[in-house]
Amino acid sequence: MDDVIIVGGGLAGCGAAIRLADAGFSVRVLEKRSYPEHKLCGEFLSPEVWGMLDRLGALEQVHNAGAHEMRRARLTASSGAMLEVKLPGVALGLSRYRLDAILADRARSLGAEVMERKAVREVTGSLTQGFEVETRSEAYKARVVLGAYGKRGVLDRTLHRESLQQQTPFVAFKAHFSGETLEDVIELHAFDGGYCGISHVEEGLVNACWITHEKTLKEADRSPEGMIERTFQTNGHLKARFDRLERVSDSFCAVSQISVEPKTMFDGDVCMIGDTAGMIAPMCGDGMAMALRSAELAVPHVQSFLRGNISASTFRTTYTSDWKSEFTTRMKLGRWAHHAYVQPWIARAGLALCQLIPSLGRWAVRHTRG
Ligand SMILES: Cc1cc2nc3c(=O)[nH]c(=O)nc-3n(C[C@H](O)[C@H](O)[C@H](O)COP(=O)(O)OP(=O)(O)OC[C@H]3O[C@@H](n4cnc5c(N)ncnc54)[C@H](O)[C@@H]3O)c2cc1C
Repeated sequence: MDDVIIVGGGLAGCGAAIRLADAGFSVRVLEKRSYPEHKLCGEFLSPEVWGMLDRLGALEQVHNAGAHEMRRARLTASSGAMLEVKLPGVALGLSRYRLDAILADRARSLGAEVMERKAVREVTGSLTQGFEVETRSEAYKARVVLGAYGKRGVLDRTLHRESLQQQTPFVAFKAHFSGETLEDVIELHAFDGGYCGISHVEEGLVNACWITHEKTLKEADRSPEGMIERTFQTNGHLKARFDRLERVSDSFCAVSQISVEPKTMFDGDVCMIGDTAGMIAPMCGDGMAMALRSAELAVPHVQSFLRGNISASTFRTTYTSDWKSEFTTRMKLGRWAHHAYVQPWIARAGLALCQLIPSLGRWAVRHTRG
C-alpha cells in the first residue's frame, strides 16, 4: 500500500508529489497522458511562482528551459481602448510541454513513482479505511488520495461532485506562433464574448490562448480558425497582432466546459488540489501559481494525518479552512473580472475607468494573485 496516490500529474499533482516524496513518504502519481505533451494554457506564470518553484527545487531547470521574463500587462477592448499596467513582480512564460515534464522529472528524482498513460476510472474507500484506486487494467491501494486531475474529469461523476451541475458554456483554444516580438509584455485582448491572452514562452515562441462563449464557436461552424477570424472583427489590436504572427503548432489544443465557479475541497474523502479544488478565471493568469500553492497548503495536513497526529475529520476541516482563507477572495474577484471582460461594453467601460484611475488597474492585478 502507498502512503499517497495522486490522481493527475499536472502542476498541483507533481508539486504535491515532490514535497511528499522529499519528506520520505511513498507516493504514486497516476497521469493519464505522457510527458512531454502540449496542454491548453496561457502559459503565463504569475510572479509569485518564483518562490514556489525554488522550494520545489525546479527554478533552475525552468530558467534553463528558456523561460521568458515579463514585467508589464497590456489590456485592450473592442473600442480601441488600451491600458498598460506594471506587474507586481517578474512573471515567466514557459510552455506546459516543458514545465510539466520538469516537475514530473523532479518528483521521480526524489523517489515518487510517476506513472504515465494511467487514467484513473474510480476511487473507493475512505481516510479511515484506506482507498482503492482503479485504472483500466490495475488497482492500487493507498492511505490518502489527492485529486489533482484538473478542471473536470470522469472522477467528478464517480465521486458525485456537485460542481458537475455547473453551467459551463466556455471553450478555449491555444497554439504557438512565431514572427513577432512582444518584449516583456503579456497582452489580454477582449472581443465580443471572450478574450485572448498572448505572451512569449521559450525560444522566442508566442503562445496565444482564446477563451470564448461556445456560441461564438457555433457561429463559426465549430472551426477554431473561423472563430479566431471573427474575434479579429471586434478588436483591431488583436487583428494587428495576428497580421504578423504565423502558427507553428500543427493544430490547436482545445478544451470545453470551462468553469470558474466554486467547488469543494473534499469529495468521497479524496482531498482536492489545483483546479480540481477550484480554478481561478484564466484572465487572471494565476491558475498555475494557485495549483502549486494549493499543493503546498495540502501537504502539511497530509503529513500530519499520515503520522497519526490529526484525525480524518481534522484533516478535512483544517485543509478546507486554509484553502478558503487563502483563495476565496481571489477566486471571487477573478469570477467578476471574467464575467465583466466577456461583455464588450463592460470591458470598454472597465478599461476607461482604469485609465482615469490607474491605481484601480494595479489594485486588480495585485489582488487576483497571491
Ligand atoms: C484557457 C485557459 C488559459 C489559462 N491560462 C493560464 C495562464 O496563462 N496562467 C496560469 O497560471 N493559469 C492559466 N490557466 C489555468 C491553469 O491552466 C490551471 O489552473 C493549471 O493547469 C492547474 O493545474 P492542475 O495541476 O490543477 O491541473 P492540470 O494542469 O490540468 O493537470 C491535471 C492532470 O491530470 C491529468 N488527469 C485528468 N484526469 C485524469 C485521470 N482520470 N487519471 C489520471 N490523470 C488524469 C491530466 O492529464 C493532467 O495532466 C488557464 C486555464 C485555461 C482554461
